Amino acid sequence: MAHSRQFISLAEARPPFFVGVDVGGTNIKIGVVDDLGRPLSWTSIHTEVEKGPGAGIARMQQAIQQVIAQTGLNVGAIARIGLGTPGTMDIAKGILLSPGNLPGWWNFPIRDRLSEAAGLPVTYSNDAGAAAYGEFWVGSGRVLHSMVMFTLGTGVGGGIIIGDLHVEGENSAGSELGHMIIDYHDTARLCSCGQRGHLEAYASAPSVVKRTEELLQEGRKSSLQARIAAGQELSSLVIDEEAERGDELSLEIVLETARYLGIGIVTAMHAIDPHGVVIGGAMTFGQHETQTGRKFLQRVKQEVCQRAFPILAQRTTIDYASLGGDAGYIGAAGLARLAYSRKS
Ligand SMILES: [Zn+2]
Repeated sequence: MAHSRQFISLAEARPPFFVGVDVGGTNIKIGVVDDLGRPLSWTSIHTEVEKGPGAGIARMQQAIQQVIAQTGLNVGAIARIGLGTPGTMDIAKGILLSPGNLPGWWNFPIRDRLSEAAGLPVTYSNDAGAAAYGEFWVGSGRVLHSMVMFTLGTGVGGGIIIGDLHVEGENSAGSELGHMIIDYHDTARLCSCGQRGHLEAYASAPSVVKRTEELLQEGRKSSLQARIAAGQELSSLVIDEEAERGDELSLEIVLETARYLGIGIVTAMHAIDPHGVVIGGAMTFGQHETQTGRKFLQRVKQEVCQRAFPILAQRTTIDYASLGGDAGYIGAAGLARLAYSRKS
């Protein structure tokens, strides 16, 4: 990943301070961030989903105290906590509804429980929306007035930022870009949400694996067969590695993924006409650092050129995210900062 984490000292930092918490199915990332979006300290703890949300809150609270202590600040110096979680969720009520990767945490009032435990007000947001805000605030979207972000990983997440407004929608589903329809046919691929033809069913990491398996089953030759024979489980990372080594089938899958994403991007462009589009998440094929990453981005842009209004294709910037895995907690802290500045 292109990003390397850099921390600033308390002497360099500008108050007020915020804590960002990014809850995932495997890990929870927590950091203290200053008024300019620069992290002072950071930690990652295992989510331990199976132990339940109450235990999760207690461990988040300990980790929050620890990252605050690391900076030399005390809790009183923290203005607000920003919390990002996967959906589905009710942002206004601060409740996790039924997130697929947090079984046993459903219908849990996570915002208020964290606020009680930490003794601080909490601003609640969608994790992909928080990551988008992080990139918009201090990442590769910092030069943009408005931005759409797609995060590619286990699912396809989205974030729409217009000025200082992060689009959450009336029912907390305002930036669910992974569920836009890119194929209306009855035979379209099945999405994790139960509907057919959604972008996520074509451009998520599990879909990349599934599409590859289908081609292998058809008898296509690929260096992936040797990896599988050696006991390696097929993953988007393995496909990325083989694409980079020149395997035709792997590269074909990567570029097909770029086409699907490009189609989704065009729909977002025609709905919002954003200043720029940012592509992030765990599956970004090495970004600018590798040939595969550069080809992926080029293919996305090619698809956009073919399908978007020419003026939009010309003017809308499309680039990779730059904060890596830090975008979520930095963005959650940024959304807390917005809420704090509105109230003070
Ligand atoms: Zn869907």
